[in-house]
Amino acid sequence: MRRITIIGLGLIGGSIALSLKQAGLGDIELVGYTRSSETAIKALKRGAVDKIEDNLVSAVDKAEIVVLATPVMAMKEILEKMGPHLSHSCIVTDAASTKVKVMEWAEKYLPSGIKFIGGHPMAGKELSGIEAAEADLFKGCTYCIVQGEDTSSEEIKVITDLVKYLGANPFFITASEHDNFVAGISHLPLIISSSLVMSTTQSPYWQDMSVLAAGGYRDVTRLASQHPVMNRDICLTNQKNILKWIDEFTKELNRFRQLVIDGDQALDKAFIQAQQARHKWIEEHDKGD
Ligand code: NAD
Repeated sequence: MRRITIIGLGLIGGSIALSLKQAGLGDIELVGYTRSSETAIKALKRGAVDKIEDNLVSAVDKAEIVVLATPVMAMKEILEKMGPHLSHSCIVTDAASTKVKVMEWAEKYLPSGIKFIGGHPMAGKELSGIEAAEADLFKGCTYCIVQGEDTSSEEIKVITDLVKYLGANPFFITASEHDNFVAGISHLPLIISSSLVMSTTQSPYWQDMSVLAAGGYRDVTRLASQHPVMNRDICLTNQKNILKWIDEFTKELNRFRQLVIDGDQALDKAFIQAQQARHKWIEEHDKGD
């Protein structure tokens, strides 16, 4: 029987598994690798996979496609450990939020002949674990695909088809462009969200302030609830770009600080510009859906 293996059955790995199951895989066996017996029981109960393996080598044995869906830093060791045990025609992909480092590790640790094609679904939520997984998580989302070294059009098609099976829209991009862009639209918001939570909850008045905090505070702080290990790994593997975007944001924050001090018409203009820019993005984004 043909086999697809998913390494890491959390929010993303579990959702990929449920989504593939929902799409119908014919004679393909879906195997999940997890080190946790609790996750294994939950994944089987939800019908996310056909089989669970707690041994990495057995999990990837004879797999045609291996999908890595662990936190980013764990992927380095997994690539190194599983490399020698992959079948010669296996294609490996991942779902990590950063791409340059993962592509470098794949190049370094996978035996020559094994193809790696990077992936990143631009969908998710602040919850983690198999409990939060959903078959429809990727429906209509943009799914970044990063071509690996020496990958053929047939191999790219295998991963593109997989992405389409998930209901997502493939988007081809280089690893360095990807890491720069997501640092601005995803990793900077995470830092802003976390620092807003820290700056407010440490106030001596927080207990009373918290009673007043409602929708706006909840919206802007949502990302601070993401899994801390995932967040740490994102920062460790995209440091340069995140720092660049923090600097850009600090400049803008200081500009707004001055506008608030000045309190003249320029403040009005700044909010009008921001409102228009956001409306334009929402309009264009929704047109694409
Ligand atoms: P998660 O915490 O829900 O799941 C990660 C799973 O990996 C857990 O089951 C954990 O036990 C397992 N794991 C950790 N280390 C492991 C190891 N060494 N070997 C085997 N399993 C291991 O996290 P998630 O949200 O599913 O994120 C998975 C990946 O997807 C990350 O690389 C993340 O950057 C990326 N991603 C996340 C989102 C999101 O919104 N959460 C969106 C797009 C991409």
